[in-house]
Amino acid sequence: MRADLIERYDLRVPRYTSYPTAPHFGPAVDGVRYERWLGELDPAAPLSLYLHIAYCAEMCWFCGCHTKATKRYAPIASYLDALLQEIALVASKLPARMGLAHVHFGGGSPTVLKPADFTRMVGTLRDHFDVRPGAEIAIELDPRTADEDYVIAMAEAGVTRASIGVQDFNPVVQKAINRIQPFEVTERVILWLRAHGIHAINMDLCYGLPHQTVGSILETVERAASLRPARIALFGYAHVPWMKTHQKLIPEAALPDMAERWRQYEASSARLQELGYVAIGLDHFALPDDELVAAQKKGNLHRNFQGYTTDAAPALIGLGASAIGALPQGYVANEIAIERYKTLVRAGRLPVTRGIATSDDDRLRRTVIERLMCDMRVDLDSIAALYGKGGEIFAPELASLTGLENDGIVRRDGHRLVVTEEGKPLVRAACAVFDRYLASGEARHSKAV
Ligand code: SF4
Repeated sequence: MRADLIERYDLRVPRYTSYPTAPHFGPAVDGVRYERWLGELDPAAPLSLYLHIAYCAEMCWFCGCHTKATKRYAPIASYLDALLQEIALVASKLPARMGLAHVHFGGGSPTVLKPADFTRMVGTLRDHFDVRPGAEIAIELDPRTADEDYVIAMAEAGVTRASIGVQDFNPVVQKAINRIQPFEVTERVILWLRAHGIHAINMDLCYGLPHQTVGSILETVERAASLRPARIALFGYAHVPWMKTHQKLIPEAALPDMAERWRQYEASSARLQELGYVAIGLDHFALPDDELVAAQKKGNLHRNFQGYTTDAAPALIGLGASAIGALPQGYVANEIAIERYKTLVRAGRLPVTRGIATSDDDRLRRTVIERLMCDMRVDLDSIAALYGKGGEIFAPELASLTGLENDGIVRRDGHRLVVTEEGKPLVRAACAVFDRYLASGEARHSKAV
């Protein structure tokens, strides 16, 4: 990509895992409103659940998640008690016992739980919901804290997919982000997963970390691909020390600049494709027989808080401190502070403290943004028609796209937009044009590349 484009679009835009994005959630949506929304859900529709385990064994300095490091088990056990209570509370507010199509255990590190506690958590879910046949049960797994007993507990609980955090295999990079994880530790956990029947394996890699170079990340990409995970996510490190204070421990002088970040992304993406992976959306790669590839071909790919997914359930329920839910009526976010979250749940209150009710305009723009993020193209006429409107309602946005068109990032044919191959890493800049909240917001987001 041309250096001037990298400079020009070194802007901070959302990752668009939701629209409106989380900085625009507010206190108007609380537990009372959430309770009403839950009661209005279609009991026959499949549900998705996200369960947030807000603890880790130690802090990785690059981390952007809501999590807390602890060496003691007591806070984790006490958090789990609240989480199990919240599962029962939410289930009691639904119109009926509902079926689950997707369950995702994330964090934090779900693997900080004792295996018996993980089993208990899945048991509680099954007490309150029907896990539909073929449902995906996914877990984020830290190879440093997952032993074989944990993997056995996962397999027995019905886990079908494991997402393994790696970031980079280079020891210098690992030291700079405080995440020492030798290759053999990652390899070992993958062998255990496969031996116990969990074959759907994702791996998370990261570019833009301190001390990374094109050469070092290519080595990481080769080693990652040698383990043949079905999916690889390649995220750009988001340096936001004003929001995540532990990131102040990252040696800033060792961070690559924008041009180097771009070279790392470009080289890794090209190598992954040479190694047999298909590029999915902005930052995911999948083996050709993976269902993400089929979904991308059919235009059925979706994007949620975990990234690209085939999950099309109309409602996603978030459980745990800071968890975000997406319902047909709008978004809800649980209390972030763990102690306050526990206090609310113990008092029998739904711990939602922020959210936003979505309007038709929000839903229309969300569809445009989601199709751009997933398909790298969008037909504004057909999306506007879903809302009884014509594509001309986007005239102001189309006018503001001229700069992106002139820079060769977007091509336009009437009301159809296509993000060019070169413009793909900057797709978020095209999405931002359709974001009605962005111009008014104060929120700072991560870099577009
Ligand atoms: S293990 Fe994951 S969630 Fe925990 S600190 Fe490291 S990156 Fe963050």
